[in-house]
Amino acid sequence: MLDTTLGIIGSGQLGSLLCQAAKKLNIKTIVFSDDEHGPAQNYSDKFIFGKYEDKDKVKEFISNVDIVTYEFENIPIEILKSINKERKVLPKPYINQTVQNRKLEKTFVNDLGIKTTEWAFIKSAEDVKKNEKLLPGILKTNTLGYDGHGQFILNSLEDVKKDWCFTADYILEKKVNLRKEISVVISRFTNNEIYIYEPIENIHKDQILKHSKIPAEITTDIYEKAQDSAKLIADKLDYVGTMCVEYFIDQEENLLLNEIAPRVHNSGHLTINAFSISQFENHIRAVCNLSKEPVKKISNAKMINILGNEIQDYRNRSFKDGEFFFDYQKKKIKEKRKMGHITILKK
Ligand code: ADP
Ligand code: MG
Repeated sequence: MLDTTLGIIGSGQLGSLLCQAAKKLNIKTIVFSDDEHGPAQNYSDKFIFGKYEDKDKVKEFISNVDIVTYEFENIPIEILKSINKERKVLPKPYINQTVQNRKLEKTFVNDLGIKTTEWAFIKSAEDVKKNEKLLPGILKTNTLGYDGHGQFILNSLEDVKKDWCFTADYILEKKVNLRKEISVVISRFTNNEIYIYEPIENIHKDQILKHSKIPAEITTDIYEKAQDSAKLIADKLDYVGTMCVEYFIDQEENLLLNEIAPRVHNSGHLTINAFSISQFENHIRAVCNLSKEPVKKISNAKMINILGNEIQDYRNRSFKDGEFFFDYQKKKIKEKRKMGHITILKK
């Protein structure tokens, strides 16, 4: 599509990297965000600051764009649906509705025959008691979780605090004795073609991604299963854009799906430097109805997330060939906040 203007909802680092990829393809971007200081405004052609519920702001946004995509899944579904009536939203809003809700997400993948950790839907302390067999487990809010927010480790029933009032819906997951975590980034185009990046190995600390690397040290069997499940999900959802599937591998080498992100993903940042076409460029290509182009792997790589105050040190460092530092230019440094990343290519 010539002369396309792409609307992006959300203005964090993923939005920034999407804008940069769009610029490379001569696609204009307009970012709409409820964060006045969102760094993506440094890279977009236009920035609209407003609450997602503000009808006038939404109108201003859609009247300026041809297509809409988003950098995060926790956008109220009604807003995505109403925007979709005026401008195509990709990935389609119903996908987001399934994936932003852990119960619907897990039911969807289990119905496809894809294994997850054992889980139960929880509305009360009584429900936790009934599912004692899932302990030690992790209680997660059913919606609106990210980077470990809204998660509580329950080692035994005693950890269910007396004063908890269970105002939200939750799911309880059995705690997996992890051997490894991996993710698969996949891009699917409007003509149903796909490109699947090789699985990426991820190390989390305090439920936040710390390192990612390729190649993942996994068996051929796991490699293929992880890619096949990601493809099955993308096809079933009739997905358009880039998506990420996160998996656990347990001590018995079972591959268990953890969650689906209906967007570009932090673990895929290394695709910017390690492949000829990044997850961001493929996302833009797909949602703007451009063709799938051949993707070449350039190098093995490791990506390190830079959290909180660590950024200060990186800002004063010099870098060698094959090291790529990204400063997200966030206004405020906060503990554990993702402030930047570095990708190191490894021959
Ligand atoms: P978020 O939506 O915040 O990314 P996740 O469900 O992906 O939440 O959990 C974040 C991290 O917490 C996972 O990548 C993993 O390291 C750890 N974790 C989450 N659920 C489990 C589980 N059931 N067993 C073991 N570790 C888990
Ligand atoms: Mg996750």
